Amino acid sequence: MIELKGIAASPGIAIGRTFFLDKEEFAIKKHKIDKKNIDAEIFRFNEAVDKSRFELVEIKKKIVESIGHKNAKIFDAHILVLNDPLFIEKIHNRIKTELLNVEYAVWITTEELSNAFIQSGDSLVSERASDIHDVGRRILRNLLGNEREILASLQEEVIVAAADLAPSDTAQMRKEKVIGFVTDMGGRTSHVAIMARSLEIPAVVGLKEITEKVEPGDLLIVDGNSGTVIVNPENDVLKKYEKEKKKIRVVASELIKLKDVMVRTVDGHEVRLMANIEGPEEIESAINHGAEGVGLYRTEFLYLNRSDLPGEEEQFEAYKYVVDLMKPHPVTIRTLDLGGDKFLSHLNLSPEINPSLGCRGIRLCLNRPDIFKIHLRAILRASIFGNLKIMYPLISGIEELKRANQILEEVKQELTSKGTEFNRDVEVGIMIEVPSAAIIADFLAKETRFFSIGTNDLIQYSLAIDRVNEKIAYLYEPLHPSVLRLIKGVIDTAHNAGIEIGMCGEMASDPLFIPVLLGMGLDEFSMGSISVPVIKEIIRNISLVEAKGLAEKVMNFSSAGEIEEFLRTQLKKNQT
Ligand code: PEP
Ligand code: MG
Repeated sequence: MIELKGIAASPGIAIGRTFFLDKEEFAIKKHKIDKKNIDAEIFRFNEAVDKSRFELVEIKKKIVESIGHKNAKIFDAHILVLNDPLFIEKIHNRIKTELLNVEYAVWITTEELSNAFIQSGDSLVSERASDIHDVGRRILRNLLGNEREILASLQEEVIVAAADLAPSDTAQMRKEKVIGFVTDMGGRTSHVAIMARSLEIPAVVGLKEITEKVEPGDLLIVDGNSGTVIVNPENDVLKKYEKEKKKIRVVASELIKLKDVMVRTVDGHEVRLMANIEGPEEIESAINHGAEGVGLYRTEFLYLNRSDLPGEEEQFEAYKYVVDLMKPHPVTIRTLDLGGDKFLSHLNLSPEINPSLGCRGIRLCLNRPDIFKIHLRAILRASIFGNLKIMYPLISGIEELKRANQILEEVKQELTSKGTEFNRDVEVGIMIEVPSAAIIADFLAKETRFFSIGTNDLIQYSLAIDRVNEKIAYLYEPLHPSVLRLIKGVIDTAHNAGIEIGMCGEMASDPLFIPVLLGMGLDEFSMGSISVPVIKEIIRNISLVEAKGLAEKVMNFSSAGEIEEFLRTQLKKNQT
């Protein structure tokens, strides 16, 4: 039995057998083939090439239909590589003369060619390197089978162990028999972790060496509450966790009874508890947990796990469904926040050294008005089916906000000229998640109807701590005095300007922080659905006066450690 400590990413306990998901690199084995198998090996290669070509032609067709020829150029380049006789010959020769297995022949050839292009020093030539690399991976995927298909064909429930996962992988687990996951890398506010909480899959991330400590098939206990993972537990430990698992289920079903109870402090102050969702399939859970609307709809998840972009109709149907079901409660649709840890390989954005500081969120949309306009059209069309609001992510200054609004205006005019219905007075707000926006919130408040504080990013950018990096996770401090000052400042500014302010970062779902945020005057808390009943219970047991007192006191401490100690002592006092 081994016990490992990581970062508690998604609550609950899972007990099951380990399944390894090695998505980082293909496991390419090199071996010599028998001379008599040369033809069979070449046949496998040719088949994989044909399949890859077919896939590329199909993707290109869809892209051309949805956003036009210009954006499909990348696929032309990939098809050219596949049709290049030199490329094909090189691999054939490796199989025929060096007697290499096809997977290795493809891998080594694409590595060699792309490295040669990169080293050429010519930027145009080195762009070809990524085409070769992508094509090589596509062929390999077709030779080896897709890992996801393996996940899809699982017959029994498993706990996934991986060095790292992408948010798209977690999204995929929704449909599979994955009851928990553990990773070497990642932080609590990475989208992989956020998604796990939405799907109610217990998870521990940032374990640093879990993939070295476990073997496929090992029995694992994942304790997503404490961040503990136990490999091959002894019998008494296993029994203890099985009991704990049952207890958690009972507590959760008790809390869910609070579904229709008002969210009101003991002295009668009302706030709204809303749900964060990543897709329409989560709306039922939001309603069942008593959320009074959707405070954050992360629309980018519709763009992941696919080789094309979702079209206007597909998006419209998804937004309409959510807005309609939640009616009369509001649904805040956050416009596309791709980039950072949510990337799309097929958009062919050039790789960035610092993706979190790069072309993500609203920046990407302003760079690609073609994609943004389709997205906005779908949102606006859905706005007549309920109470829909629009929210821009990652706004860092006034010009960006004005530019986004200008594009929105253009889309509104296009819809009007076509006679398409939409809510002309749809509310538009912004996320406050970049420190510059927090600092100039007074200017921004004049141009927008509401704010929502995105603490996941606000903390990352204020403290210069990559939210997905487990090595520095200990420095990711929501209670850092600088973060609290920013939050307090933004709340006051919003109220002075007469606009409402909520919070949709993970901080809004942490029981320890709730009294302080309430005392600072937050109007709305938005969180993963499973947290709604827990937070409701906390708010119902505190008075606003008391919360205000706490919020004032914490501002006098100079470190996160002191603030945390103070809040924990208060919590204990209240519990006794
Ligand atoms: C945030 O940054 O706090 C937020 C809610 O957005 P996301 O986690 O999707 O970046
Ligand atoms: Mg964010």
